[in-house]
Amino acid sequence: MNVIRNKILQCLYNYSNNDEELINELEGVITEFGSRTFPVIFHVLTHLDLEEEEAERSWRDICQHRREMSSNLGHNVNLRTSICDYFCSIHKSLKNPKVVEIHIFEDTINTAKYDRLTGLYNRSYFDESLISEVARAKRYDTELSVLFLDIDDFKNVNDSYGHLAGDFVLKDVSQAIIDEIRSEDIACRYGGEEIVILLPETKKTTGLILAERIRELIEKLPLKFDGKNIPLTISGGLANFPIDSSDPTELIKYADQALFKAKAAGKNNIQAFSPNKRRYVRVDFSSEILIKEIRLDESTGIIPVHAKNLSLTGILFASTDPLPLGGKIQMQIPFDDFNATVLLLGTIVRIEFLGTSRYEIGVSFLEMGHTSKNEVSRYLLNKLGQQLK
Ligand code: GH3
Ligand code: MG
Ligand code: MG
Repeated sequence: MNVIRNKILQCLYNYSNNDEELINELEGVITEFGSRTFPVIFHVLTHLDLEEEEAERSWRDICQHRREMSSNLGHNVNLRTSICDYFCSIHKSLKNPKVVEIHIFEDTINTAKYDRLTGLYNRSYFDESLISEVARAKRYDTELSVLFLDIDDFKNVNDSYGHLAGDFVLKDVSQAIIDEIRSEDIACRYGGEEIVILLPETKKTTGLILAERIRELIEKLPLKFDGKNIPLTISGGLANFPIDSSDPTELIKYADQALFKAKAAGKNNIQAFSPNKRRYVRVDFSSEILIKEIRLDESTGIIPVHAKNLSLTGILFASTDPLPLGGKIQMQIPFDDFNATVLLLGTIVRIEFLGTSRYEIGVSFLEMGHTSKNEVSRYLLNKLGQQLK
């Protein structure tokens, strides 16, 4: 899509003074890329989203409309004027069009689309693209892979070399990734040092090959700041439409889970999401936690319970009270190793009766904030690291 869009923009810039040439050139793009060009022409010129068939019909109608307007007025009518008149008076899909120089508009769009530091697409552009790319993959029955990348131990880079150095290498890593991918791939800065790439028309295995290539590229990238070498590695998780999910949010979640597996496998690593039973690494977590049931009808007290194990998605604890299945609770979980306490919400998904006043309760975490998730990840990775030693 970007290729077609860029060609159309090029035609508009090159032939701004010559409509006949402009139409000829646009017809050339239509011949080269087929009927999927029509919606792009109208998106560039009017920001209207038209289906292929409707866009093609409108294009032909507008060319005719322009000829008629020219003959009625006795002079050549500009293509943009006839487009404006067509969409205001005939098609009636524009009510208050604003006339603006295209390069000014494109500049504004670009500032709104890109992340300033890295040159990658920003999060809001990504959120829109994810939805539209999944819809497109469904419509055209193609695959879409989602690659979630995260720089390894980036905090250490900042701590050892300073934030400026951190910014500098983040920019270089992003540029290396931009240079490596195809123009139709959408690479975005998802969060701080997290980069997500949408790979349209990409099978899971092909996505994994690309991910591995990026991992190797970053490992070998000569990064220097202030005369000092800064070696970096990156880890990644991959999920695929339609194999893993057809839901945009779930695709991201699964790619992120695969990334967690890659980190647990020792970092500088790529993993594909696989929906096997033991999807989440679970570690022993013997600690007292405080829970509080969330109920609308009455307020409940805080109860201490004993946790048994913990994963990125949930916790298991022993309780003297059965607690209601499906009930919501608030948990205060202490991570003594880091002097941190995390406050999480969860749903009770499993209750097992172990004996008189002895129950085992399984809780699935409700959506976690970034900080809480980082704390839980940090604890799990730390524990796994200790087990591997
Ligand atoms: P892991 O291997 O588990 O991903 O460890 P990590 O240190 O990379 O992860 P963590 O999430 O603990 O820390 C991320 C760090 O990235 C902390 C934050 O200061 C840094 N960071 C995020 N955005 C930027 C940025 O724009 N510039 C700089 N210099 N640092 C950033
Ligand atoms: Mg990181
Ligand atoms: Mg991170």
